[in-house]
Amino acid sequence: MITNILSVSDCTDQTSLSDFSPSDKPWDIHASERDQVRNLYLESGHPYARRISDCSQWLDFALTSTDSDEVAFKLQSSKFCRVRHCPVCQWRRSLKWRAKFFQVLPQIREVYPTARFIFLTLTVKNCELADLRSQITIMNKAWQRMVQRKNFPALGWVRSLEVTKSKDSSAHPHFHSLLMVPADYFLDGYLKQSDWTNLWQSALRINYTPIVDVRTVKPKLGVEGDGIAAAVCETLKYSVKPDDLVSSADWLLGLTKQLHKTRAVAVGGVLKQYLADLEKEPDDLIHVDESSQSGEEQGRLRFDWRYKKKQYTT
Ligand SMILES: [Zn+2]
Repeated sequence: MITNILSVSDCTDQTSLSDFSPSDKPWDIHASERDQVRNLYLESGHPYARRISDCSQWLDFALTSTDSDEVAFKLQSSKFCRVRHCPVCQWRRSLKWRAKFFQVLPQIREVYPTARFIFLTLTVKNCELADLRSQITIMNKAWQRMVQRKNFPALGWVRSLEVTKSKDSSAHPHFHSLLMVPADYFLDGYLKQSDWTNLWQSALRINYTPIVDVRTVKPKLGVEGDGIAAAVCETLKYSVKPDDLVSSADWLLGLTKQLHKTRAVAVGGVLKQYLADLEKEPDDLIHVDESSQSGEEQGRLRFDWRYKKKQYTT
């Protein structure tokens, strides 16, 4: 991550990555979660334990100077396991997806200057973990039916699946989606929350009322600090909370089996041509911050993961 933190001279006495670059603190947090997930796989004799053991054990950063004589850290190399539920890899994946979205947003705005975004969350009743896979199949089919309905207003959409663990250990699958709608949607064809609920219920072909939440993203799309950033971050985040991943070996193994080869993110409508890459595993989990400027390289610094300290240090 690029981060402007210290002057070059400050970098001599530090040893930990988070001291050098406080905004890289998430590395320590996610690597620590990664070890917990690895240990749960290990306890269960699952082959993912071995793969995760090699994940992000070292990080090689380029140090570049900025205009204000500060140092920016930019990851240059590491090795990632790409296990779906590895907390480091799912974090990198979500950063990559977000970067991709913000990279193409100006092009989308150029072609659709008056379009607006709405953020829609669609849920179903909780299910047993053992039934999660079939529940997700039902939700995917319902989504397909919904987007084909005449009154579905979006020109394009991005949708992600999140599964949380309920207190009674049942699974709570739900979709977060960002819909791009034409400007006149708010004048003609506008759907209230109750209309969305009816639409989702009828697409699901169920006889209970599902919980649906819809919010309009504030205008001035793409401006930093704008609602679109929060909606994109919420849509393109991890599919399982790290706290839930590490809650128990049974839950982790059940989830691993149930979510195997299910799609985390889907894109449709006119956004497909800009964002189809989001549906694939990103090739590159290293450069997730393409938009940032790069200054002159001042050197390299390598950090190794210290299992006991739960820190990356030099
Ligand atoms: Zn990993």
